[in-house]
Amino acid sequence: MRKEDILKSLEKVKYPGLDRSIVDLKIIKSIEEENKKPIITLSMQNDEAFQVLQKSLQDLFDNDVEIRREASMQKKSINYGDTANPNNRAPYAKRVIAVTSGKGGVGKSTVSVNLSVALAQKGFKVGLLDADVYGPNVPRMTQTADEKLRWNDNNKIIPSENFGIKIMSVGLTTPSSDTPLVWRSSVAVSALIQFLEDVDWGELDFLVIDMPPGTGDIQLTMAQELPITAGVIVTTPQPVALDDVSRAIMMFKDINVPIGGLVENMSFFIAPDTKKRYDIFGKGGGEATAKKYDIPFLGKIPLDMQIREFSDEGTPPVAMGDKLQKDYYRNIADKLLAQIL
Ligand code: ADP
Repeated sequence: MRKEDILKSLEKVKYPGLDRSIVDLKIIKSIEEENKKPIITLSMQNDEAFQVLQKSLQDLFDNDVEIRREASMQKKSINYGDTANPNNRAPYAKRVIAVTSGKGGVGKSTVSVNLSVALAQKGFKVGLLDADVYGPNVPRMTQTADEKLRWNDNNKIIPSENFGIKIMSVGLTTPSSDTPLVWRSSVAVSALIQFLEDVDWGELDFLVIDMPPGTGDIQLTMAQELPITAGVIVTTPQPVALDDVSRAIMMFKDINVPIGGLVENMSFFIAPDTKKRYDIFGKGGGEATAKKYDIPFLGKIPLDMQIREFSDEGTPPVAMGDKLQKDYYRNIADKLLAQIL
C-alpha cells in the first residue's frame, strides 16, 4: 500500500461522533513503514475515541496496517478523574451547571436554554453545551439548527451564538435534524469531551450543560471530567415523573454532585379564556420531593401554550415572552445564584 493511497482512504474516515474527517482534524501524526507493514500514528488524547478509531481503521485496511498513538498523548490521558475528585476539562468556565431530569419530555432543554439566557441577561458570560445525545433540542430552541460546525485557525470549533449565549450541541454534528443518534454511549462521551476541550468557548462565568435524561454513563463521565458546581433537576409534578426524578437525585448525591435545586415544569395550567387554574398533573409534588431529599426548590413554570410555541420556534420565552413568562425563568436563575454565588 502506498502512503498516498492510505491517506486518500483516511480522508473519508470521520472522527467518532463528529462529521469531520480525521485528516482535516490533523490527527494523523505520521504514516510510516516498519518491516513492510504501514504504521499509522494518531495524535489524539481521548482514550475511548482512539479505541473506536483504531478498530474502524483496522477493519478498513483488513488488519494490514498497525494503528498507534503518539506516545506523549497517552501520558496526558492516563489520569482519569473520579467523581469525588474530578478532572477539570473546562478550566475556562468559572462554574458548571448540569441540568438533568429523570425522564425525557419534561422540559429539561427548555429550562437549560432559558436559564442560560436569564444568566446572560444578568451580565454573565454563558456557554450552553447540549449534551442530550438522545434528543438534542437546543439548536431548534435557539435557532441555531441550520448552522454547521466551523473551525478557527487554531483548529478549535467556533460555537454558535444567539440571545447572548454561546451554544454547542451534539445535534450540530449530524447532517440533518432527523438523523438518528444511535451512538454507543462511549462514542457520545468522546464527542462530548471533545466539545469541552476543543470548542473555543472563551472565558465563561457559567457553562450550562443540558444533560441527557436519566442516570447513565454520560452523567457519570461528566461528573468525573468536570467539577460540577450545581446540578439542576427538572421534573413535572405527576407521581410517575417524580419516581424517575428521585433516582436522578440519588445518583447526583451518590456521585458527589452538589444539587442546586429542583424545578417543577408544567406545574399548572391557566385556561387562556377563563383564566381558571387547573392542576393537570396534581399539586405540590415537586415541592414535596425537594423536601424529602432536602434540596432547594427553585420554582414552578406553568404549562403554557405560548412557552411551547416560543420554545419550538427558537425564541426563548425569557427573551421574547411577556413579563410573567420572563419572570418564571429569571426567578429560578435568582434562586440558583443564591445557592452558588
Ligand atoms: P426535555 O428536554 O425534557 O426532553 P423539552 O425541553 O424538549 O423537554 O420540552 C419538551 C416539549 O415540551 C417541547 O415541545 C417544549 O416546547 C414543551 N414545553 C417545555 N416546557 C413547557 C411549558 N412550561 N409549557 C408548555 N410547553 C412546554
